[in-house]
Amino acid sequence: MIIVMEAFTEQDQINMVSEKLKEKGFQVHLSQGVERTIIGAIGEKTPEVMELFETLPGVERVVPILQPFKLASKTFQPQQSKVNVGTQVIGQGKIQIIAGPCAVESREKYLEIAQAVKETGATMLRGGAFKPRTSPYSFQGLEKEGLEILAEARELTGLPVVTEIVDPRMVDEVAQYVDILQVGARNMQNFFLLRELGKINKPVLLKRGPSATIEEWIMAAEYIISGGNKQVIMCERGIRSFETYTRNTLDLSAVPLIKQLTHLPIIVDPSHGTGKWKLVEPMAMAAIGAGADGIMVEVHQNPSEALSDGPQSLTPENFARLVTRVTKMAEALQEN
Ligand code: PEP
Ligand code: MN
Repeated sequence: MIIVMEAFTEQDQINMVSEKLKEKGFQVHLSQGVERTIIGAIGEKTPEVMELFETLPGVERVVPILQPFKLASKTFQPQQSKVNVGTQVIGQGKIQIIAGPCAVESREKYLEIAQAVKETGATMLRGGAFKPRTSPYSFQGLEKEGLEILAEARELTGLPVVTEIVDPRMVDEVAQYVDILQVGARNMQNFFLLRELGKINKPVLLKRGPSATIEEWIMAAEYIISGGNKQVIMCERGIRSFETYTRNTLDLSAVPLIKQLTHLPIIVDPSHGTGKWKLVEPMAMAAIGAGADGIMVEVHQNPSEALSDGPQSLTPENFARLVTRVTKMAEALQEN
């Protein structure tokens, strides 16, 4: 349930309600708006408990949250969350363009592509150091060396870096090298990993599982938030459907749905969402049109020689064109 406090309630009253909730065995989470504080209470609610809290001073009303997700829900926090990444903010109106190759393949190639995408408008860098591949015989990533290269690219360009974390035991180590930790689609329901990510103070980019419902995906976010880390960014990357022409079916309805149901920012990955580079720009445009806070796209100097995901990777020239068009679209939408 949530307890909506009266506008401009005194801190003493908020403290009193929080203490009483803890006494009754509830976990307490505060959402402090400009005017109003909302207290999220996770635990066993009964009509008696709800009535009791309604009588406490400073309480305006007690509302049950009917959805299974609580802290991620818009009811708990009506204002949109903003996630700070270095000097950038995700979820505040300006769209973020995260770009780079699927995997870090070598120091030389990565530093080159990082500079190239920065020059044409990327606001953050991506690159996998640990690659969870369908086949154990495919390139698995440079691992630790990859992390070092990512950290060097970050220094060189000044752009924040996103990379995937696959092992719960490595969360602290990976967090030392990068600015955002990505949970890959295949790991969306790796609850041990999600719990570890709940303990850190770094943004987490949570990809939607290939067969996850919207509710399962938000519940995965709830794991991280309930662990204490509120910096969650959702990422739609396509789901599995009967269609085989595209690698996945990009579910753009997820964008307005996530905005309606939660306060979390959402970005879209049209590269994994389609698997075909020619579809990346149109779907990036559609994502921004649907209200996404940004996009994440794969870019490679020479897609035909990429060690992973070449068919969906843009050349730097095609990326430059995408940035121009997507930026124009975002500006046009902001004017309205
Ligand atoms: C990736 O972003 O490199 C990746 C592996 O994506 P996904 O987890 O969405 O397949
Ligand atoms: Mn990839």
